[in-house]
Amino acid sequence: MKVERTDLVFCGQAKLRKATRGIVLHHSGMVCATPARIHAMHRDRGWRGAGYHYLVAKDGTVYALRPEEEVGAHCGTHTALGRPGYENNRETLAVCFEGCFEPLPGLDCDEGMEERQIKAARALIAGLCRKYPDIAYLRGHGQMPGAQTSCPGRYFPLAAFAGLTPRRAEK
Ligand SMILES: [Zn+2]
Repeated sequence: MKVERTDLVFCGQAKLRKATRGIVLHHSGMVCATPARIHAMHRDRGWRGAGYHYLVAKDGTVYALRPEEEVGAHCGTHTALGRPGYENNRETLAVCFEGCFEPLPGLDCDEGMEERQIKAARALIAGLCRKYPDIAYLRGHGQMPGAQTSCPGRYFPLAAFAGLTPRRAEK
């Protein structure tokens, strides 16, 4: 499948991921999102730049954001124990979907996902699972340990991506 390169400029030092055990699915939280907009938002949070590795646009275009071999910034948590959930980021790849699949007051929302976006994401995820044989799980952001978020939203079709991770995973 084709992945569009982006020329995002990251600041600071890259950290390389030592393990890749899961894929975490996110929504952009905006009905329209571009690589540049996500990159700018994440830089504004003081991060190196876009925290997701990929963005799947509504038209089915897949964009590469943060280099795939790097640790992302997308599902860290600050739990009640006061420990940052850096582990979540350290072993996962992040795929973000353009759209806001959670109804939030005053914001536009997507009540479902179009087939071309699903299809593109399935191809991307299947490819990542082949490339990283240790991938054992595929979860929505809110299903990650310590996460307190509605991401990727109640209208996000998680079931459309079930079964893409290999069975060997369940050890
Ligand atoms: Zn998220």
